[in-house]
Amino acid sequence: MNKNIFAVVAFAQIASLSLLVSPAEVIQGEPFFVRINGAANIASVKSVTFDGAAAGIFMYQGKPAVLLGIDLNKKPGSYELITKLSDGQVQKKTVDVGARKKIVAPLGIPEKLGGNTPASQKALVNALAEENASLANIRTGTKAFWTEKFLMPLKEIIVTDPYGYSRQTGEYSIAHKGADFRAKESTPIMAINRGVVRVAKTYREYGKTIVVDHGLGLMSFYMHLSKIKVNVGELVGRGQVIGLAGQTGYAESPHLHLTVRINGFSIDPIKFFGLFQF
Ligand SMILES: [Zn+2]
Repeated sequence: MNKNIFAVVAFAQIASLSLLVSPAEVIQGEPFFVRINGAANIASVKSVTFDGAAAGIFMYQGKPAVLLGIDLNKKPGSYELITKLSDGQVQKKTVDVGARKKIVAPLGIPEKLGGNTPASQKALVNALAEENASLANIRTGTKAFWTEKFLMPLKEIIVTDPYGYSRQTGEYSIAHKGADFRAKESTPIMAINRGVVRVAKTYREYGKTIVVDHGLGLMSFYMHLSKIKVNVGELVGRGQVIGLAGQTGYAESPHLHLTVRINGFSIDPIKFFGLFQF
């Protein structure tokens, strides 16, 4: 009799493990959020992998969760999300990745960077490759530095250039892996969440740039600033003013370029903020 009761309880625990994926379907360049129902804390989750790559686990609203990003160039199709608990339970789910519509715009180069000539195009592409390489392997915290939902980096949000299209010129194509927001010169720019400043530096193309590491491979990049108000290694708060908007580097007018990166993949920032509506 006692043995039967035990069996029923154990079954109920197994049945309670479920993965809440939002959204259920994503396209190239988009993030998604997975909440692990039926796991008590971070220690009770052994691993979460998506297409074989491990994701960092954090607590959000009392439940273990992970954030995942789809590379802009990931092949559309179905990929497996696997969660393993420390007690041996395994839950698998298929996530469908759809194709993003390809949008191409012409590439213009401002006079301060040499204007629209083949030589300045080449210089732009070469400098971007160098800057991307130097920003590719930024160290990240082994736990999440944040607990509350993410905030927009500006008080007034007007997207002037969305994520995901390509700027094309002759033989070169440059993908826009962030979102541009309208921001007058010197508009305060706020950290989208708590984190540690890993980069505070001036680049030829990205201009004055700040990178905030939110831990577990999640980072936010703020570019073309006129002023940087933080130092590398500094812990910044959610909503803290970290710099002022400008047009330094490859920019034709003052704006904020924001990139959000999850485990090395720069995803659509607007879709990212949309994940934190709950
Ligand atoms: Zn941009």
